Amino acid sequence: MYWLLMFTTCCSCWQTVKNNPNHSHNIRKWLQSTDLTREVYQHLAHYVPKIYCRGPNPFPQREDMLAQLVLLGPMEWYICGEDPAFGFPKLEQANKPSHLCGRVFKVGEPTYSCRDCAVDPTCVLCMECFLGSIHRDHRYRMTTSGGGGFCDCGDTEAWKEGPYCEKHKLNTSEIEEEEDPLIHLPEDVITRTYNIFAIMFHYAVEILTWEKESELPADLEMVEKPDTYYCMLFNDEVHTYEQVIYTLQKAVNCTQKEAIGFATTVDRDGRRSVRYGDFPYCEQAKSVIVRNTSRQTKPLKVQVMHSSIVAHQNFGLKLLSWLGSIIGYSDGLRRILCQVGLQEGPDGENSSLVDRLMLSDSKLWKGARSVYHQLFMSSLLMDLKYKKLFAVRFAKNYQQLQRDFMEDDHERAVSATALSVQFFTAPTLARMLITEENLLTIIIKTFMDHLRHRDAQGRFQFERYTALQAFKFRRVQSLILDLKYVLISKPTEWSDDLRQKFLEGFDAFLELLKCMQGMDPVTRQVGQHIEMEPEWEAAFTLQMKLTHVISMMQDWCALDEKVLIEAYKKCLAVLMQCHGGFTDGEQPVTLSICGHSVETIRYCVSQKKVSIHLPVTRLLAGLHVLLSKSEVAYKFPELLPLSELSPPMLIEYPLRCLVLCAQVHAGMWRRNGFSLVNQIYYYHNVKCRREMFDKDIIMLQTGVSMMDPNHFLMIMLSRFELYQIFSTPDYGKRLSSETTHKDVVQQNNTLIEEMLYLIIMLVGERFSPGVGQVNATDEIKREIIHQLSIKPMAHSELVKSLPEDENKETGMESVIEAVAHFKTFFPPPPPRKPGLTGRGMYELKPECAKEFNLYFYHFSRAEQSKAEEAQRKLKRQNREDTALPPPILPPFCPLFASLVNILQSDVMLYIIRTILHWAVEHNGCAWSEAMLQRVLHLIGMALQEEKQHLENVMEEHVVTFTFAQKISKPGEAPNNSSSILAMLETLQNAPYLEVHKDMIRWILKTFNAIKKMRESSSTSSVAETEGTITEESSRDKDKAERKRKAEIARLRREKVMAQMSEMQRNFIDENKDLFQQTVAEEASNSAVLDNSPMVSDTTLTALGPAQTQVPKQRQFVTCILCQEEQEVKVESKAMVLAAFVQRSTVLSKNRNKVIQDPEKYDPLFMHPDLSCGTHTGSCGHVMHAHCWQRYFDSVQAKEQRRQQRLRLHTSYDVENGEFLCPLCECLSNTVIPLLLPPRNIFNNRLNFSDQPNLTQWIRTISQQTKALQILRKEERIPNIASSKNSENMDELQLPEGFRPDFHPKNPYSDSIKEMLTTFGTATYKVGLKVHPNEEDPRVPIMCWGSCAYTIQSIERILSDEDKPLFGPLPCRLDDCLRSLTRFAAAHWTVALLSVVQGHFCKLFASLVPNDNYGDLPCILDIDMFHLLVGLVLAFPALQCQDFSGISLGTGDLHIFHLVTMAHIIQILLTSCTEENEMDQETPAGEEELAVLALYKTLRQHTGSALKEIPSGWHLWRRVRTGIMPFLKCSALFFHYLNGVPSPPEIQVSGTSHFEHLCNYLSLPNNLICLFQENSEITKLLIESWCQHNEVKRYLEGERDAISYPRESNKLIDLPEDYSSLINQASNFSCPKSGGDKSRAPTLCLVCGTLLCSQSYCCQTELEGEDVGACTAHTYSCGSGVGIFLRVRECQVLFLAGKTKGCFYSPPYLDDYGETDQGLRRGNPLHLCKERFKKIQKLWHQHSITEEIGHAQEANQTLVGIDWQHL
Ligand SMILES: [Zn+2]
Ligand SMILES: [Zn+2]
Ligand SMILES: [Zn+2]
Ligand SMILES: [Zn+2]
Ligand SMILES: [Zn+2]
Ligand SMILES: [Zn+2]
Ligand SMILES: [Zn+2]
Repeated sequence: MYWLLMFTTCCSCWQTVKNNPNHSHNIRKWLQSTDLTREVYQHLAHYVPKIYCRGPNPFPQREDMLAQLVLLGPMEWYICGEDPAFGFPKLEQANKPSHLCGRVFKVGEPTYSCRDCAVDPTCVLCMECFLGSIHRDHRYRMTTSGGGGFCDCGDTEAWKEGPYCEKHKLNTSEIEEEEDPLIHLPEDVITRTYNIFAIMFHYAVEILTWEKESELPADLEMVEKPDTYYCMLFNDEVHTYEQVIYTLQKAVNCTQKEAIGFATTVDRDGRRSVRYGDFPYCEQAKSVIVRNTSRQTKPLKVQVMHSSIVAHQNFGLKLLSWLGSIIGYSDGLRRILCQVGLQEGPDGENSSLVDRLMLSDSKLWKGARSVYHQLFMSSLLMDLKYKKLFAVRFAKNYQQLQRDFMEDDHERAVSATALSVQFFTAPTLARMLITEENLLTIIIKTFMDHLRHRDAQGRFQFERYTALQAFKFRRVQSLILDLKYVLISKPTEWSDDLRQKFLEGFDAFLELLKCMQGMDPVTRQVGQHIEMEPEWEAAFTLQMKLTHVISMMQDWCALDEKVLIEAYKKCLAVLMQCHGGFTDGEQPVTLSICGHSVETIRYCVSQKKVSIHLPVTRLLAGLHVLLSKSEVAYKFPELLPLSELSPPMLIEYPLRCLVLCAQVHAGMWRRNGFSLVNQIYYYHNVKCRREMFDKDIIMLQTGVSMMDPNHFLMIMLSRFELYQIFSTPDYGKRLSSETTHKDVVQQNNTLIEEMLYLIIMLVGERFSPGVGQVNATDEIKREIIHQLSIKPMAHSELVKSLPEDENKETGMESVIEAVAHFKTFFPPPPPRKPGLTGRGMYELKPECAKEFNLYFYHFSRAEQSKAEEAQRKLKRQNREDTALPPPILPPFCPLFASLVNILQSDVMLYIIRTILHWAVEHNGCAWSEAMLQRVLHLIGMALQEEKQHLENVMEEHVVTFTFAQKISKPGEAPNNSSSILAMLETLQNAPYLEVHKDMIRWILKTFNAIKKMRESSSTSSVAETEGTITEESSRDKDKAERKRKAEIARLRREKVMAQMSEMQRNFIDENKDLFQQTVAEEASNSAVLDNSPMVSDTTLTALGPAQTQVPKQRQFVTCILCQEEQEVKVESKAMVLAAFVQRSTVLSKNRNKVIQDPEKYDPLFMHPDLSCGTHTGSCGHVMHAHCWQRYFDSVQAKEQRRQQRLRLHTSYDVENGEFLCPLCECLSNTVIPLLLPPRNIFNNRLNFSDQPNLTQWIRTISQQTKALQILRKEERIPNIASSKNSENMDELQLPEGFRPDFHPKNPYSDSIKEMLTTFGTATYKVGLKVHPNEEDPRVPIMCWGSCAYTIQSIERILSDEDKPLFGPLPCRLDDCLRSLTRFAAAHWTVALLSVVQGHFCKLFASLVPNDNYGDLPCILDIDMFHLLVGLVLAFPALQCQDFSGISLGTGDLHIFHLVTMAHIIQILLTSCTEENEMDQETPAGEEELAVLALYKTLRQHTGSALKEIPSGWHLWRRVRTGIMPFLKCSALFFHYLNGVPSPPEIQVSGTSHFEHLCNYLSLPNNLICLFQENSEITKLLIESWCQHNEVKRYLEGERDAISYPRESNKLIDLPEDYSSLINQASNFSCPKSGGDKSRAPTLCLVCGTLLCSQSYCCQTELEGEDVGACTAHTYSCGSGVGIFLRVRECQVLFLAGKTKGCFYSPPYLDDYGETDQGLRRGNPLHLCKERFKKIQKLWHQHSITEEIGHAQEANQTLVGIDWQHL
């Protein structure tokens, strides 16, 4: 068949075919065909199985290439009618592109929402659009997408302002509304496209939804069918990765690695074939898998499918993606596809292709779903006309889709139901769906359908939920989300249709609430404690999820009076239904106090069922407030069913609920367990209170305002079970006489307190718009004032304490400026934005303090007492009285206005009088201070109220609020007690009420003020005025007295403070030694130096024969364990420092290098890339060696016991020798012995005179090393030696004074020797990662290396921070370097002499040629400082056998000079020549001429391969800068080695210390003199160095070399704006699973590599264990230590080894100076340089491991995390 046959006959020829495409035959046939469908199907039937699924493993690239060529290509030709390479661009050009962005988000991609302009939070922009929009300067929020969803740029409904970004704005100018995009397409293209789309879309849908396993649709069936099958494994969310991997290994005999691969693909794509072959072969694998996974749960889904079906399905998917890309060329093509998709099929309703796909959604595998969802998004959702039609289809199928979703176990993100957000949040679509499809009712009804479990009264019951039901309950909650979407944008105008449909939905909603009213009732448990904690969470979850929906329902009602009234009526009716049987059965009781009486039902909260869930009541309360706010209640009261309201019924249930809280607080419900405590907590919690607690208060306020307050108070007393107490006149007296149970008295007191508190709230809480005459801003302001009255708060803390609306807004920003100052409490320099460096806090403005209400209803008890304390303290600071009177309140709205009368009602006055009476009689048990405080507050409120009334009174009006008058009257019969006022005056002087005096005084003052106001309007009585005067004068006197007392108190306080600080000083003095011995030592050192005349005037020299002699110092230290003091001496017991040795790559210049085989690795020469060093650190704490050993043994023993008991981790690894410093808990793994300067011990042996110069010395040493080599050779080959011994001895002429048979005596005590070995072995073990072996010849090398590396790293830190070399180092660093250097210098005494000599010879030979060594590195490949340290520290092993009179000092000096010369040559060879040369301005100096001469010599020796440089000035400059780090390190080294104090000039920072350093190090200032002075030998040396093969290769450009100075390593540069990091990470795909997005992209801050962390796909094996990508990376990049940024979480991760890790706060802050770990708040984040530097410093100081240790000690949960899997 045409050209295609060629391909099928010869697969390899397809390349030729590709180069010569000839579709014409094919196309012509199709064009002329009468039955195009049949033709195309035949084509597909023939080729699809030949291209796809040809073997066990997929080969997607090849398949796609062939499919494009053979299958899709012809269709593209067909559509265009010409070569698509021309056709499509033509279409593209003619297209008027959409003004919608529509970019579909990838998982993890950043999205932006504007808090000012977005209609709701689901409106988001992609990064590109955001940056080009006006919103970038607004208050925006940033999140990472969970995948799915698209950019809303261009959607005018989504944005209040600025709907287009700059890019998409361009397209808007030309669009005309509703223009048909098809007019831009040629007629024939339309027809052909329509044909082919219809066929292909139909084909794809048919094959993807095909359910048979071995049979194809008839028109695709083949003639010859191969006998091959796949065993296809499907994804589910039930089985874990481990289960799947384990099962697969068993079922299909694959390796673990392959199994992981299968499992990863199954998880990502939803299915994967795990076996290919004939039917029985696949069937067998299937049965194993099913058998293995069916034990606890339902088995994994496996199908054996014929290969041709799989082939067609794969092509079907390809086809859908292809359609998606084709319609991208033209909006017209897109329109055609939409038409095809939504066209009703032959089967009528629900038979369009789109319907068919949606309805089989839950049966499709994950990969197929996401492909078709994407196609929908790029087609139907991008075409506004079809989006509407699609929305209708979606709504019609809604119930079925949700039902399928319930059965399905996949996440919602891959379900078709997740598309709801696309329609429901678009305001016009949502409204259309409500009116036309009755969407509200459908959603609510569907929701109710899925919650079938009810109790006898028809209420929801979650009590005995099975796991499956609980799972469904979680899924069904997504319906609430849909409901929220629909309601989120409120209608601007109402049609009758909308009203009707909304109210219908409201009905359904009431049905739902009715099922919640009274659910989960509780009964007080008496006697025994409750056996099983009842389930409560499900009910509260439901309540919490519905909270916003309930609020939004009310918001909708508020928009239209007709709707509001109807809704109010409906709600009331439902409430009546709920209350059916309310008064049934029992006889009512009559209550009477003060001549008032009321009937009520018998009901005791403490005896009967009570429920916290009252959503219907609360909804009515909400609607009532809305009525109160609107004018309809006053204009047309007849429209309202007010007459039907029965106030006692309205208040009953909320009152019960509040009484329940009071009783729980009084401890009456202790036996009901935590379930109840939790419920009460959430009832008041910020997440629920708006639709629970707050509404209960409002309902009671509603009730009180509609009934006689006396009646209300009596009912309330009865519900609180306090009626008896207040109706028994002598309750107080009886208590004192009788011995009543103490608990009961306490209980009653608490209940009375709670009841008074409730009355305070009912009167005082009028800040909801509609209750009081306030607006929404006033409400938020008040919340914030009260939060900040507790303490200043950070932004996020404050946000958390405020309720959020459905848009996640608190409204805080709009008012915060008015009530608070923002203060930054961290380093002052003001950067770009305030608070960017440190944490900022909001602090309450002082003038707002007067609005503080001690009994603010949202305070928890703890907050209340904290706030009270804070406010009193503030008042004392301001020298005011400490009364906290009630604030002035806004007036009530008219509907609630009568509520204030409760304060002056008879029963209220009676209650007040009774309590004051108890207080006056002061008989102990009947009253409490808290009770009195509340009564005083109530009196204060009443007085404030009256004052307000008087101030605002209109002319001629009479103020009916006469509280002042009532309290001055004496009580009525039968008590005949004194007036409230009189009792207050009595209490004012009661000694036991000191705290409340100020408040009582304030009340009396206010009372007088009111009296005056009244008098000014009426006649005044003289007597009363006099009374006022006396009161006033006594008050003045009292004030003076108080002032005097305060002064005395202040003086006393100051005296005490002085005493305290004196004691503190003494304490420090006494204990100084204990904690800071190092400080003492330091001080004593400098004391000695200061007294020494040598130091002050002569120049100081650190080494050589001219070394400055330092007087011997005695050093005393104290053991932190036994507190014993001891002198550091050669022969005494060892003292040690706790130390931590670790491998390090901090200085590395080559992170790719790893030690391959540590057993064979030779560390003698350090490469100048410093790729892997060994760092030693210490906390500086000193112990006796034996004390430490005892301590360590006990730690070890404890750890073993602990591990036997339970397998617990610790922050340190005892098996690896780790322990925590007993004093500071710093992580340590060995100890360093403290030593005196070791050179002094050996140096006083000889008298020096006539020391050799460099040339002579080199000769002598060469002879000595040669002699040693011969001797060693003999020792190694003893049998030859026996015969030739004498001969060799003749040949060997021992240099003069050299005695190789001499073995010096080790001067150290056994204990010190042991510690030398201990530390040496530890360095070796850690540095090389090998098993400890104290005899390994590499031990001394590792000791020297660690000394050199540690000095180098400290030199880098000092340089980077611009600190002087010998400035004040922290004690611990100073101690560590000193001990480390001295230790390294003394270590040779415990090593084999021959070994150390061998090392010396080899090191020496690298600079001075020696025939015996063939394979030494060239000088370009040696780090000279490491070489110097090695040579100097190994030298004593040679020198101790030399009796010719050459001193150690001479040797040190010559070694130093020799190495320095080599380093200079190294610098000259490697100095980069690319740099722009500038001409020198000054005439050439001595140094410049010298260096130029040297360079010329060098060029001669290298055969002029070096570039010619005419300017000595540049050369000299390069040498100087290149050699500085080396000189600095050397200065540190010799300083600590020989103990010579540093010259004062280098102790301060300033200009280059080059000259001072040279003097100190005994070097000529003109370094080149070293060569000139020893010209004879230097020529030879330079020649030999340049001869090296590697040097030649370098000069010929065949290899690289390190140049000097080496730059310091830095952590990578991070972008200023965090979102660009997120964006970068979202483009990152897992390197192992073919283009799949990584779930936890993690950035290595050291090298910048992005890793796919915390994921199976990227696990690798490391030392026999599976580890995650991060852990694996630390081993190559940081030799075990890693610093990462988890991009999705915005969290820094520290890792060390496999078991240690911690999280660290990220260097990104929002504008409030706060971090956002987990990106929960979404505020824009910016880089904080200070914080990032802090992290870098931790790294440079090698403190990461220590930081982890501290974090883990502080937080034990960190220990349990499997860090190695990250
Ligand atoms: Zn966009
Ligand atoms: Zn845009
Ligand atoms: Zn905006
Ligand atoms: Zn000790
Ligand atoms: Zn310590
Ligand atoms: Zn790295
Ligand atoms: Zn991965």
